[in-house]
Amino acid sequence: MHGKRIERIAIIGGGTAGWMAAALFARLLGPLGTRIRLVESEEIGTVGVGEATVPTIRLFNQLLGFDERDFLARTHGSFKLGIEFRDWGGPGCAYFHGFGDFGADIEGIAPHHHWLKLRMEGDGTSHEAYSFPAVAARKGRFAPPPKDPVSSAPYYQHAYHFDAALYARYLREYAEARGATRVEGRVVDVARRAADGFVEAVVLADGRRVEADFFVDCTGFRALLIGEALGVGFEDWRGWLPCDRAVAIPCARRGPLTPYTIAAAKEAGWRWRIPLRHRIGNGYVYCSAHVSDDEAAAALLADLEGPALAEPRLLRFAAGRRKAFWAKNCVAIGLAAGFLEPLESTSIQLIQNGLTRLIEYFPDADYDPAMIAEYNRVTANEYARVRDFLILHYCAAGRRDAPLWRDCAATPLPDTLRHKVDVFVSTGRVPMLTEESYAEASWVAIFLGSGVAPRRYDPLVDRIDSAVLAQGMRRRREEIRRVAEAMPTHEAFLERACPAP
Ligand code: FAD
Repeated sequence: MHGKRIERIAIIGGGTAGWMAAALFARLLGPLGTRIRLVESEEIGTVGVGEATVPTIRLFNQLLGFDERDFLARTHGSFKLGIEFRDWGGPGCAYFHGFGDFGADIEGIAPHHHWLKLRMEGDGTSHEAYSFPAVAARKGRFAPPPKDPVSSAPYYQHAYHFDAALYARYLREYAEARGATRVEGRVVDVARRAADGFVEAVVLADGRRVEADFFVDCTGFRALLIGEALGVGFEDWRGWLPCDRAVAIPCARRGPLTPYTIAAAKEAGWRWRIPLRHRIGNGYVYCSAHVSDDEAAAALLADLEGPALAEPRLLRFAAGRRKAFWAKNCVAIGLAAGFLEPLESTSIQLIQNGLTRLIEYFPDADYDPAMIAEYNRVTANEYARVRDFLILHYCAAGRRDAPLWRDCAATPLPDTLRHKVDVFVSTGRVPMLTEESYAEASWVAIFLGSGVAPRRYDPLVDRIDSAVLAQGMRRRREEIRRVAEAMPTHEAFLERACPAP
């Protein structure tokens, strides 16, 4: 049995979150005749710095039916095989979080256990020699993923870097072509029903009212509906993730078009480098208790590889999440729902997952409280898992040369992360919880990359004779190197596959 159907949806906010919502709803709800309107204010603008993604974005693009070549050409996009973390263990250290595992399981055991055994027997080979995306990325290569000869699975997944403004425009064209409409205007008030406090309409500065049955709050850090109007509080995680500001400056590209993001640790935070085809996105994410805005901007300007293409842009934020993501007839998506700092480019993924979950739980006009509670429960778990993953980068970083890094090492961990660290250190295993965004191989990449060494490996590894294991592992890494070296450079592949318009 179905209740009364929701006929009118209003998305408030036209950043990446708002236009992703409009595109998805136009694709999936448009055919039902649902009226989809998006309200945004040019005067207020968007955050616009979310330019690095994780591989799940490809599922979203596939759901919308985007053609990858057209999408990359129109957003000046490039491919991303992972993130290189520089200087997190101290000056000169680097490790790679690649979008893939460290090779196929061997007799049912995750490959890092086999690597660990060889390591304990004196083999100095880095675990990254078994990560195809790490090897290919560092050689500057890209091609659609070849298959691992052992498992027949693709050697890696890929994500993208793209121009956030062009991505929003791309989504907007798609949504408008499928019937979504855009309303330009600044929201000055949110009208609520007297009887139950449900949102009835948003009121614009010129007096117009945009009414709807269901509202999606995509107003960014302002959280106009979920926070200001409905009074849902914010759970502040700055105690674990202390960076609270960023300065961003795009610049001309000088070096090769690398197929990965760089996240380089700095005294009071870290610096990103996101390679697009027409420019480099740069930013310094920092903790305002340890460096001033002017010092951060000067440090970033001094570190640019080419001429700056815009003035420094300052962004303030707090790591954390809304205490509820869905209240009454309003769901918060994007920065209005929460933000966990940009270290692993998780924000667009959280938008995508929030939207697909919303479609999965799409309500009737009776807004069943049990379903709302379930949406909130699952989403809260998802945010907590991502939070733990990010905290691991800081707490495991070997740097102790500045107050931020000493504080991070000394801060007690959330229980869920403490448990993961303890189990990994004593057994080399990663206990996976529900609603994890990151697979075991990603956790292993950060643990091992940060120098967290387990005390033992899976005892079943001893079924294989050490000499046989060493020979098999050598063949693996030689195969990875050979295949990676045969691939075209990232730039050559892009120019051939998706020429810029
Ligand atoms: P916004 O872009 O802020 O959009 C808010 C919208 O609401 C705008 O259209 C605005 O006009 C509208 N609005 C607000 N108030 C009103 C009003 N009163 N009336 C009418 N309209 C209104 N994510 C990633 O996935 N990868 C990254 O690499 C990444 N890097 C980041 C770096 C930094 C420093 C920061 C701060 C964020 C980063 N993010 C990243 C997050 C990413 O930028 C956001 O998730 C993404 O841009 C979505 O933002 P949004 O649409 O929720 O909010």
